[in-house]
Amino acid sequence: MLKGEALKGKRALVTGSTSGIGLAIARALRAEGADVVLNGFGDPDEIEAIRAELGAEYNGANLMDADAIAAMMEQIGTIDILVNNAGMQHVAPVEEFPPEKWDAIIALNLTAAFHTTRFAVPGMKEKGWGRIINTASAHSLTASPFKSAYNASKHAIAGFTKTIALELAQTGVTANCISPGYVWTPLIEGQIPDTMKARGLTREQVINDVLLAKQPTKKFVQPEEVGALAAFLCRNEAGNITGSNYSIDGGWTAE
Ligand code: NAD
Repeated sequence: MLKGEALKGKRALVTGSTSGIGLAIARALRAEGADVVLNGFGDPDEIEAIRAELGAEYNGANLMDADAIAAMMEQIGTIDILVNNAGMQHVAPVEEFPPEKWDAIIALNLTAAFHTTRFAVPGMKEKGWGRIINTASAHSLTASPFKSAYNASKHAIAGFTKTIALELAQTGVTANCISPGYVWTPLIEGQIPDTMKARGLTREQVINDVLLAKQPTKKFVQPEEVGALAAFLCRNEAGNITGSNYSIDGGWTAE
């Protein structure tokens, strides 16, 4: 399945890569020759099939647990590419938003990226080359109601990314966000019932009047399109792209 060699010899950790966007990014990096470390939850047989397909390593650390992240990063050792992608959503009005869901979303969508980054940066600096890509969201640039924790975490990861880009600007290590609009993955499917409840809508109304209403193209973004953008940002030609937040949202944030 290898297509290119632009990332040959590079070792990449992609968090949340057993599903959706992370899996597509892992496939895209592998297709350019990178060695991939997978992370995420799921059915053990399905994970093993993905691991075998990509000739990858797998580490199942729970990224809501700082100690588990530390153990994972120590076990993995030096990496050249870090993709902080694992994330979760919960949809509810702020006064009904369960505090434990708030804590979980901030821990996974934001704090986990701080921990992986702080462990990955010294090795990247030593090599004089590195790529940090954070899967943010259109919700890092704009907001929708009933997603208080998610929107807060995504705005914050965008600020974190800009900060580390500046800190690392002269080291050969870049840091960027990719901000997808609605991508058809289990994360989106999973929020449809709660959105139906929060807004009093049918499934079709949620898909057409809430989700696709945001995207002028009226199409869901495909995970492979996000994978291709991530692979580009890892190439040597992208060495001067840092501190950027790349929208891939069918025109959503242009409005
Ligand atoms: P997904 O639910 O398909 O995948 C999430 C991944 O994270 C899975 O591999 C899952 O096992 C893993 N994960 C969940 N909890 C974890 C934990 N505690 N520790 C380790 N791994 C864990 O979701 P997706 O849609 O592919 O989302 C991936 C990223 O893209 C998220 O950060 C999400 O916020 C972002 N995003 C998604 C969309 C979209 O429309 N799907 C849009 C914008 C941004």
